[in-house]
Amino acid sequence: MKVTDHIKQAKGNTLFSFEIIPPVKGKSIQELYDSIDPLMEFKPPFIDVTTSREEYVYLDRDGLLDKKLTRMRPGTLGICASITHKYNVDTVPHVLCGGFTKEETEYLLVDCHYLGIDNVMALRGDAMKEEKYFSATNGGHQFASDLVSQIQDLNKGNYLHEVIETDNCADFCIGVAGYPEKHMEAPSLKSDLKRLKHKVDLGADYVVTQMFFDNKKYFEFVDEARKMGITVPIIPGIKPIAVRRHLHLLPQVFRVDIPEDLIEAVEGCKNNKEVRQVGVEWCIEQSKELKDAGVPVLHYYSMGKSDNIKAIAKEVF
Ligand code: FAD
Repeated sequence: MKVTDHIKQAKGNTLFSFEIIPPVKGKSIQELYDSIDPLMEFKPPFIDVTTSREEYVYLDRDGLLDKKLTRMRPGTLGICASITHKYNVDTVPHVLCGGFTKEETEYLLVDCHYLGIDNVMALRGDAMKEEKYFSATNGGHQFASDLVSQIQDLNKGNYLHEVIETDNCADFCIGVAGYPEKHMEAPSLKSDLKRLKHKVDLGADYVVTQMFFDNKKYFEFVDEARKMGITVPIIPGIKPIAVRRHLHLLPQVFRVDIPEDLIEAVEGCKNNKEVRQVGVEWCIEQSKELKDAGVPVLHYYSMGKSDNIKAIAKEVF
């Protein structure tokens, strides 16, 4: 079922959902199940599965370094299929521009369609580790908006090289990313919102936000988006701080601000067990306020750790 239909069906009640990251290759899928199991009691209608960009590894060949391109966390689609099969829940694979040609994207979407997957998140992806800026893969897309167009074309039976007249068209519900504190490369929040509007105009059905730690940023973002004519659901994505180094890491990687009160509370902790508790309590307060404001879904970035998300969900749902 489509994410937007789940939202309609909930009739104003806030739903619980979360995002998981495929394990590093070679690890068992059981570890993933172990992190999902404790969260199933909160009845997520859908679970997102991220896709990681390819990266270079350097192999020592008799003293010479051999540079190889590889994907360390493959298996997004397989994981989606396994989770749907095991838990009878919808899954949302993240589809990236970076690292994929348009042909490969088409094959992936055809696989999604055959698997009965109704939703996809259309994302550009970040620059590769070695790159300063994102550069499109040869034969791939430059912006998430281009990916939205490709998915919408497929929904109409327009494949890359031919129009296929079929009564079995895909009908993907498309999610896209939004940034309450603006995307790191955007010159301003307003110009970033225009880009978001463009994705929605091309056919994106809902937005999931980057994490934020100050709800005011989310509320202002939604206000601005509505003024600009973006009417689709805007789902807040949130994450509890879990270790002290998140204070530096999260702003560095995601370009998000951390409120002073939260910084002080984390800095006052004696160890990471205390930090985790502070992070959970902050996220509970954030979640309660967002829920009271009537957000359609609270979407948690679990990052493979479910114990803190469970502690939060217990207080909120
Ligand atoms: P876009 O919408 O293409 O925007 C990228 C930048 O380009 C923005 O600054 C925008 O303002 C600008 N822009 C857009 N269109 C144009 C245009 N026509 N001309 C000029 N500028 C333009 N990354 C992963 O690798 N894997 C994941 O699974 C993943 N999941 C995510 C889930 C969520 C909810 C979020 C918020 C992010 C996720 N990301 C993921 C990170 C995401 O890939 C990065 O933030 C990436 O840098 C931007 O992706 P986007 O889809 O927002 O790109």
